[in-house]
Amino acid sequence: MTHSPKETLGFQTEVTQLLRLMIHSLYSNKEIFLRELISNASDACDKLRFEALNNDALYGDDAALVIRVDFDREARTITISDNGVGLSREEAIAHLGTIAKSGTQEFFKSLTGDQARDARLIGQFGVGFYSSFIVADKVTVVSRRAGVAADQAVRWESAGEGDFSVEITEKETRGTDVILHLREGEDEFLDGWRLKAIIRKYSDHITLPIRMAGETWDEEKKENVRSGEEETINQASALWARAKAEISDEEYRAFYKHVAHDFEDPLAWTHAKVEGKQEYTELLYIPARAPFDLWDRHARHGVKLYVRRVFIMDDAEKLMPLYLRFVRGVVDSADLPLNISREILQESRDIDAIRQGCVKKVLSMLENLAASEDAAEREKYAAFWREFGKALKEGVGEDFANKEKIAALLRFASTHTDSAEETVSLKDYLARMKEGQEKIYYVTADSFKAAQHSPHLEIFRKKGVEVLLLSDRVDEWVVGHLLEFEGKPLQSVARGGLDLGKLTDEAEKKESEKAAEEYRELVEKIKASLGERVKDVRVTHRLTDSPSCLVTEDFDVSGHLARLLKASGQNAPEVKPILEINPNHPAVTRLKTETARFDDWAALLFEQAELAEGGQLEDPAGFVKRVNALMLALSGEASVGS
Ligand code: ADP
Ligand code: MG
Repeated sequence: MTHSPKETLGFQTEVTQLLRLMIHSLYSNKEIFLRELISNASDACDKLRFEALNNDALYGDDAALVIRVDFDREARTITISDNGVGLSREEAIAHLGTIAKSGTQEFFKSLTGDQARDARLIGQFGVGFYSSFIVADKVTVVSRRAGVAADQAVRWESAGEGDFSVEITEKETRGTDVILHLREGEDEFLDGWRLKAIIRKYSDHITLPIRMAGETWDEEKKENVRSGEEETINQASALWARAKAEISDEEYRAFYKHVAHDFEDPLAWTHAKVEGKQEYTELLYIPARAPFDLWDRHARHGVKLYVRRVFIMDDAEKLMPLYLRFVRGVVDSADLPLNISREILQESRDIDAIRQGCVKKVLSMLENLAASEDAAEREKYAAFWREFGKALKEGVGEDFANKEKIAALLRFASTHTDSAEETVSLKDYLARMKEGQEKIYYVTADSFKAAQHSPHLEIFRKKGVEVLLLSDRVDEWVVGHLLEFEGKPLQSVARGGLDLGKLTDEAEKKESEKAAEEYRELVEKIKASLGERVKDVRVTHRLTDSPSCLVTEDFDVSGHLARLLKASGQNAPEVKPILEINPNHPAVTRLKTETARFDDWAALLFEQAELAEGGQLEDPAGFVKRVNALMLALSGEASVGS
């Protein structure tokens, strides 16, 4: 038997920071500490149940899992106890001394000091166990890991100010007691009625019984005294297993906060019992806000798997595709074996069927929000899109079976909206296509502004044809996989020879043929001057205001995608652009008669087209020199310059 002496250890820096902030910013909501501690007790019991599937002995002679809440007016303490899995010394140090979350540092950087805003952020981050320090100035945790001897329990204690102590101790029973030593002035919680009301409000959905000693009024003492009888405070049934009609929105929300470890209300949910080849119940939520680690591909997923009410695992990534990784909730299967492992799950066709069903539910929930008669519901969809739109876009390439459905849910900025936030759906787009328009036009760029000001849009603006403005990194991926929508092909305005089909009239066609003929000689000269830098030079009818632009062949990688690939350290195939010149622009017309500075003019036509699409010049200094030389030449002082 080892008896390690009492040791004092420092919290991870972020924990200290979190503690300080939380105590201030969540004070107005302080009663949530009880919800968090009960939620942890319930998780600990779930874990024990799961571990015991393969090792029944872990239950010992104490198989009835239960959570107890107690308080002591004299000692001014509240104790939350469970007979769950417990913590070993090492686990106590790791789990109660550090925050094991990706994105923790970024999170702390995002805090501003504005209390209301920070409180929201902290809530979203999830503070769990540490919320005890809102009401307690000392917290003692005594815990005995399941399967470990009584004299190998651990006692963890902290005043929440930078460090904590751990020592080995004795504990009769399995599980964890969390003892809160209340701060001065928090005596309101030393009241059975108050505690019960909080439990009913926040923790009614917990599947285990939460028990408290009964109390009766003592007329002589003029206070409540223990009656000896214990009572169960909550309904203690799995919320998802109850009939929808019997569950209030409030209950759905409270349950969400427990499963998602979130402080905020969810945006929407879907709850269904599915019968068919696979029988299961799903209760799935969309959070109101994207988690910090949405872009971390290793971040944990949020759907818990149960089998006939027995918790099997958190983070069952097999239940949701990556592009829906933000969905939270539970799936409870009636058919899967209890001893199913992660490895078996990977291969399981039953799970595939369940996942397909769940994805359908989530997508139709989103469809319903988006298409609702109710403006508030539609606003929810807009909020969803702002938070999770970029993730959903990945689905176009990831989920072949649901591609059309996902495409209908996509939203884009367009030349017909005023800001990046205002969006249109592909259906909106189709509905207002011009007479004779056969394609869905889009432009991709590094930013909304760059897309909006792209020279490639000029002819479309002139004709009043709508163009989608795509400026998310993931958009190149979307258009790479979404080749058409409801039979209409998607077409980049910066690719290929611009064929506007029936949007071009006969006169315009004649005119461009004439221009091509008229400029043939100039085009050849520019091509010779630019040499290797371009694949081709040609006269364009895309432009009305700009003198030039770059385009790529239909089958080549676009300039924008090539830049993205380079930026992410990948090999981008070397693709030479085609320079198109505007025959109606004075700078181009003028070039016909230019001789002395022809090469500079030609280079500038190319370089400004590169800049306009957000590209980087190969020789910026040369560009600056050419511009200066031209400026001086125009002001009649060419002799002073270079
Ligand atoms: P979360 O519940 O989101 O993981 P918490 O801050 O609430 O975060 O808890 C941190 C960790 O501490 C838990 O993940 C768990 O490992 C451990 N823990 C907390 N309370 C208990 C408990 N009653 N029994 C066993 N482990 C616990
Ligand atoms: Mg917790």
